[in-house]
Amino acid sequence: MHAEQAVELADALAHELNAELAARDAHGLRRTRRTLQSPQRARVRVDGRDYIAFCSNDYLGLAADPRLAAAAKSGIDLYGVGAGASHLVLGHSTAHHELELALADFVGLSRALLFSTGYMANMGVVSALAGRGDAVFADRLNHASLNDAALVSRVAFKRYAHGDLDMLERLLQATPARRRLVITDAVFSMDGDIAPVPALLALCERYDAYLLIDDAHGFGVLGAQGRGTLQHFGIESGRVIYMATLGKAAGVAGAFVAGSAVLIESLIQNARPYIYTTATPPLLAHALLTSLQLIEQEDGRRRRLRELILQLRQGLAGHALRLLPSETPIQPLLVGGNEQALALSAALAAQGLLVPAIRPPTVPQGTARLRISLSADHDAGDVTRLITALSNSA
Ligand SMILES: *Cc1c(COP(=O)(O)O)cnc(C)c1O
Repeated sequence: MHAEQAVELADALAHELNAELAARDAHGLRRTRRTLQSPQRARVRVDGRDYIAFCSNDYLGLAADPRLAAAAKSGIDLYGVGAGASHLVLGHSTAHHELELALADFVGLSRALLFSTGYMANMGVVSALAGRGDAVFADRLNHASLNDAALVSRVAFKRYAHGDLDMLERLLQATPARRRLVITDAVFSMDGDIAPVPALLALCERYDAYLLIDDAHGFGVLGAQGRGTLQHFGIESGRVIYMATLGKAAGVAGAFVAGSAVLIESLIQNARPYIYTTATPPLLAHALLTSLQLIEQEDGRRRRLRELILQLRQGLAGHALRLLPSETPIQPLLVGGNEQALALSAALAAQGLLVPAIRPPTVPQGTARLRISLSADHDAGDVTRLITALSNSA
């Protein structure tokens, strides 16, 4: 349809929406999208210009790996394109089945269940395990999907200050709830720090609670062979419910929950975002089997990441703006004001470097930042350019 033929939104609603958008503009909160014209990697083409990008969650540099692309193509030959049905009808293919077995084995848990996205996995697992009369305890900096999951579950929703275990303990002591679920990002997505999982687990044991770990940013990156945050800490516990995503370090798409057989069987029966949606294309599950092998075998990617993290932190040690404490590929540079963060991001873009400005409500008011994320696809020269540009800009 040509734009001039488009039906206009009714006046009253259009007026209200325009006013809301104008208010966003006034506070430096309007979000815009860039159009990526190349595969997702360290060097990208965006809106007709070439950049080095520090924007992706593709920590291992696998998203555009030719071996993954070849696996996806062979997945098409084996399974076609669409799953065509939900998992419980006839959308659950051999590729999904094999991937679930491989994921459970990889993270050292009995069973795994695939979800279409991490957002849906969190919605599914929290709402299947907790409802009215139960309580969810959540770190204040958890990912939005965990917060939304608690809200739709109609639990008593208690948030504790970031990493504040004393506050969590007081909340656990005070709760009358029958079932208690503590939920946390394993690696905080906008701060990059690692949750104190052993101490959280100890509190869960003391107060008869369960611990849901969202390892979106740890899976593939932390632990021996990238097996994730549980392996990083050497944790084995029947109180832990593990969730990780497959669109970040794994370079493809989707997510999974892993744990005991009874947990997974219960999710298959009760997790609505699992039940009422079309299964993801089996070609993606097929590609993920290759991704899992690369994650396991290519330790050099994690070594490269560690070197780049060290280089960036040493290079910015004397900078006027402070890097938040983080040993992961997420390296946030705290700026403060929204406009200031946007201006710094724009100054870097003018020098061919893409670093996203992250503003409220994604992060707390007054803590706008540049979220520098590193990938094994970067090299030392890329990081040097970023350090130099930041030294000249602020
Ligand atoms: C990205 C992310 C999710 C959502 O995963 P998707 O697969 O992108 O929907 C959930 N939790 C955390 C901590 C994340 O960073």
